[in-house]
Amino acid sequence: PLKASEGAKSAAKLRSKSKEAAQLPKPNLGDAWAPTSWQSKPITQDVVYDDYTGVEAALEKLESLPPLVSPFEIEKLRTKLAHAANGKAFVLQGGDCAELFDYCTQDRIESKLKVLMQMSLVLLWGTGLPVVRIGRIAGQYAKPRSKLTEEVDGKTINSFRGDNINGFDVSDRKPDPARLVSSYFHSAATLNYIRCVLASGFADLRKVDWSLEHVQNPETKERYQKTLDAITEGLQFMHTIGADTAQDMQTIDFFTSHEALLLEYEQSLTREANGHHYNTSAHFIWIGDRTRQLDGAHVEFFRGVRNPIGIKVGPTMKADELVRLLDIVDANHEDGRVTLITRYGASKVKELLPAHIKAVQSSGHKVVWMSDPCHGNTQTSTVTKLKTRHVDDIVEELRQALEIHRECGSKLNGAHLELTGDAVTECIGGSAGLCDEDLVVRYDTVCDPRLSLSQSLDVSFLIADSMRA
Ligand code: PEP
Ligand code: MN
Repeated sequence: PLKASEGAKSAAKLRSKSKEAAQLPKPNLGDAWAPTSWQSKPITQDVVYDDYTGVEAALEKLESLPPLVSPFEIEKLRTKLAHAANGKAFVLQGGDCAELFDYCTQDRIESKLKVLMQMSLVLLWGTGLPVVRIGRIAGQYAKPRSKLTEEVDGKTINSFRGDNINGFDVSDRKPDPARLVSSYFHSAATLNYIRCVLASGFADLRKVDWSLEHVQNPETKERYQKTLDAITEGLQFMHTIGADTAQDMQTIDFFTSHEALLLEYEQSLTREANGHHYNTSAHFIWIGDRTRQLDGAHVEFFRGVRNPIGIKVGPTMKADELVRLLDIVDANHEDGRVTLITRYGASKVKELLPAHIKAVQSSGHKVVWMSDPCHGNTQTSTVTKLKTRHVDDIVEELRQALEIHRECGSKLNGAHLELTGDAVTECIGGSAGLCDEDLVVRYDTVCDPRLSLSQSLDVSFLIADSMRA
């Protein structure tokens, strides 16, 4: 069995007293790593609880529960990402900005899986590369916030920080340790259903209805149908020659991911096996743009886990800082160990990406380059005052990222998107022609605006077209 990491029990107590730890020295790579070593580093986006006895009890419970994903699966993803880093696969990572416990329903899980499958079909056909599918799902429950409080009806209350911490309802904003254990069980139920439908032929192209029900735009429908028909024809040919009996046809690999923000939670699910420490809360975890300080707690935790990791790279990242960060988290120079998820904004990508690419090229680290064209393009709608994104900006950042990589002798290896399988109206534009006024029709997100099903397909076609060109 996997061994639970030592010390989570004392983590809560330590954390409650460790404010003075916030002035500790710069990282020393010679320092021993342990699942608890992050606790002595300065931390950003920390959660302060009233009830540390409750936190301690929750962490102890988490330590006793079985892993959500296995080292075997994590190793498999490492291999796939090593291929991606060498240009031999394309990675699609997508899902909600903030997943709610309430999203753990049959319909929502199926529709999220379906949009990711449909997008990967387009990408597969367009790029001619295997697609590595990673959902922002089954654990995307903790959110960093630029403002930790907000005004509601003249009162200052805590911002919503994700279901792992507090509730979206304004009366439920106090951090509650019981949510830590609830996160585990909602992740487990979501993951169980994902595994269950995939094992039952949900992704089998020969059996499943892959049509687009909710997409109105006739051009998108037609392009998609043509892709599907071409694939079906190929599959029929394989059937004719008797080459479609492989197990591989019935299911696909699907991996889970989330921002590993709440380190107490992540530590409690970190287990030792084969001489490594695996974070068994998800296959892939990433560090957000707000918590990637070189000498900070998050970088310290990430450097010691065996999982493939992501780092969000925003406009404030310096080229030499990026290389130092890679030296810390990829000390052994392993292909695809790190995925750099760049998110500058359409107006800044040209100015910032080339220097980052060149710095990484000369550092010798072999990363997966992924574009997140969503987070640098968030704005407030002038009409409805809702947080939104223009599909044009999203497509433009992606298009430029693809082009810049090509010009720099590099290659874009993946896309990271906030999306939902439903017909929401949270982003403006796309083939469905949503405008500012439409945002109120179905604005469901509890955090950042997500691409709808049809907007997600628009983005996949753009990538497929650019990569084929
Ligand atoms: C996110 O992915 O939801 C997020 C908060 O991103 P970033 O860290 O890039 O701002
Ligand atoms: Mn987001």
